[in-house]
Amino acid sequence: MKADLIQNLEDRSWDGIVLPVAKGALKDLALPEIGELEAVRRQGAFAGNQGELYQFTTLQDGKLCRWFLAGLGETWGLEEMLESCAAAWRQCHELGLERVCAVFSGLGAPLTPALLQKAAEAALLTAYRFDKYKPEPEKPGVQEAAFLCGGEETFRTALRDAELGARAVCLARDLINEPPNVMTPVCLADSAREILAGTPVKVRVYGREETAQIGLTAFLEVGKGSLQEPMLIVMEYTGDPARPERRLGLIGKGLTYDSGGYSLQSSEFMETMQHDMSGGAAVIAALWAAQARGLAVNVTGIIAACENKLSASAYVPGDVIRSMSGRYIEVNNTDAEGRITLADAVTYAKQCCGVDRIVDIATLTDGIQTALGDRRCGLFTNSRTLAGRVEEAALASCERVWELPCDENLRRVLDSRVASLKNSAMGSSVGGYATVGAMFIKEFAEDTPWVHLDIGGTAWSRACEGIYTKGGVGFGVRLLYEMLRGMEGE
Ligand SMILES: [Zn+2]
Repeated sequence: MKADLIQNLEDRSWDGIVLPVAKGALKDLALPEIGELEAVRRQGAFAGNQGELYQFTTLQDGKLCRWFLAGLGETWGLEEMLESCAAAWRQCHELGLERVCAVFSGLGAPLTPALLQKAAEAALLTAYRFDKYKPEPEKPGVQEAAFLCGGEETFRTALRDAELGARAVCLARDLINEPPNVMTPVCLADSAREILAGTPVKVRVYGREETAQIGLTAFLEVGKGSLQEPMLIVMEYTGDPARPERRLGLIGKGLTYDSGGYSLQSSEFMETMQHDMSGGAAVIAALWAAQARGLAVNVTGIIAACENKLSASAYVPGDVIRSMSGRYIEVNNTDAEGRITLADAVTYAKQCCGVDRIVDIATLTDGIQTALGDRRCGLFTNSRTLAGRVEEAALASCERVWELPCDENLRRVLDSRVASLKNSAMGSSVGGYATVGAMFIKEFAEDTPWVHLDIGGTAWSRACEGIYTKGGVGFGVRLLYEMLRGMEGE
């Protein structure tokens, strides 16, 4: 889909008009040539409530044009702009309208570059399709999207930012939506190399033997039951060479399939367990966006990618395994495997990559969905400063986060009879499972400033809704990218 800024609505003919309207702002909307709009106003057919979508059709020069009035509500901001426009653009794509223009004269306030960026992201993200295994390609959506606004450089930059962000999200969605028989650890490593080929990001990939030599022994235990070779994927970006001491470790969980192992999941959950590498996909996509924008930050992306399967060689509950940090872990639940892989990735980041801060993003627990639902992820931290960065990025990206506590009484459920700690709260009835998972990783982060994002509830969508398409969401891509932007010059 092509996206453009235009200054005059009359320059082209349109199949659709998307018109975000604030509550009560319809009365000030001056488009006298559209009699239908006048009638909507007179009859009070549309109030502009948040989530309200009203459609009508006009006849212009013998051609039908569909209008979508998208309600923003009374107090609204970036998120409402994104959501309301997404609902309207989704309709435009589904109806196969070819040329659609968004008009911003119903805001009751001036259009800012940040608002334009959200309106454009809505158009671009709802155009996403994953149809490579369908007998025929899905009906194409809108071909030409336009946004009516001034031609100032700030608006052009906002549109470019929207295109960059949306492209990165779609890269991640493609990786997540590939079925697990295709998206193996090797395939994920190859994809990272392909996506970042020809960019300043250096990608190194280590197979089983090299990873063992480096010392990520706990990670390798998790992948032991699978025929697919585990892969340690390391992506190094140096956008701020003058300050080599500042380097962020960005770690994404990379379970390309999680059956649960001997602590087997129910088939209902297993059906979508390809998305257990969503954190890894977000890291690859955010790094791609960071280098594309030439951000002045130093980041090392790390994905310890493997499959969690069960076989004669798989690890079992009761095993005691050695981690890269030297701590021994008592495995009481083979389905709490992500945190084991992350523990070694965190130690690797600290010992081998020279990072001074760590952010990890992982589909870690179902508990987080119980706590926060499916559109907001959990944040755990040992550093208010670093958490503040992520929270600012959440507001800018409209990817919601909520901080949950790291409570010591929940660390105690991980106390082990034989080792440094157990890997899960299995057998304890205290609850707080998302916190318990976070506390496990925190143990390995030690005193390095660290943020853990649990996207266990937000990474996979069961519905086409707003900017979300069924399947992989690409959650965290825009959040991480905005966070990296905020770290420039820090
Ligand atoms: Zn699991």
